[in-house]
Amino acid sequence: MTAVKIDGKAVSASIRGQIQEEVVGLKKQGIEPGLAVILVGEDPGSKVYVGSKEKACIELGYYSEVHRLPDTTTEEALLALIDQLNNQANIHGILVQLPLPKHIHEKSVIDAIAVEKDVDGFHPINVGNLMIGDDSLLPCTPAGVIELIKRTGTDMAGKHAVVIGRSNIVGKPVSMLLQRENATVTMCHSRTLNMREISKQADILVVAIGRANFVDHTYVKPGAIVIDVGMNRLDNGKLAGDVDYEDVLEVAGAVTPVPGGVGPMTITMLMQNTLIAARRAHGLK
Ligand code: NAP
Repeated sequence: MTAVKIDGKAVSASIRGQIQEEVVGLKKQGIEPGLAVILVGEDPGSKVYVGSKEKACIELGYYSEVHRLPDTTTEEALLALIDQLNNQANIHGILVQLPLPKHIHEKSVIDAIAVEKDVDGFHPINVGNLMIGDDSLLPCTPAGVIELIKRTGTDMAGKHAVVIGRSNIVGKPVSMLLQRENATVTMCHSRTLNMREISKQADILVVAIGRANFVDHTYVKPGAIVIDVGMNRLDNGKLAGDVDYEDVLEVAGAVTPVPGGVGPMTITMLMQNTLIAARRAHGLK
């Protein structure tokens, strides 16, 4: 058996097409989704991400503001900018690019973003709403993971999903979203015993650990859906996932490549969240 490649680029392009159409409709009603992105410092990776977000806004017809601040920016100044954006009617989503310089407390910054503009889905109230199953802005990468699984045509209800990695931004929210889809979820982490055996029972395997090519075919049940969230820069400059893609191809039913799998979905889900926030701000469903 050779696994089907889950093409995150194609799924992302199709969702962006739908968003674009919706934006045209909203603009006719005088509504223009607006996203503000704040970058503090010179981290090269962060600069690339912020550039991609700005580009996506332009492509989709959003209003966009990018605030590029020096790494000497004080927490007070950053919080003042967030407060200003919280009160700015043409901004529906605020994203502070992480990581922040060490002298700024990430938690204080995330807490300061208005819940309804928290398009990253990191605010504790949004995290809590996700936990109890209330309406919330979903964290982008986990939402992208679920969307990719859905696009394989798989009904997650009753399936055994194994999530390797329990970070607040990926593993934990992915597990909550899988439970919402009625999957039976097992979480694995660095202290899990017999992880290979557990992983091998998964109908759906989501890997988010930050270890290049860690998961090979010995972790995969024949026919399983494998979603690789990992993004690891190798010494040769190439990007690698947490899953050894070529090795699992012969065993898995469907698998995401890196690049071109989960990665493209993250910004698309951010754009979708901004659209949702804009609609809600104008009293639309
Ligand atoms: P993280 O905060 O470092 O968390 C890693 C998790 O993996 C932890 O829960 C850790 O366990 C677990 N882990 C580490 N080594 C392990 C091992 N050998 N066996 C089992 N579990 C292990 O990482 P993250 O932020 O979730 O990111 C994970 C990966 O996803 C990274 O490669 C990151 O670049 C990528 N990522 C991609 C996107 C995207 O848009 N595609 C977005 C976010 C992250 P403990 O809790 O026990 O320490």
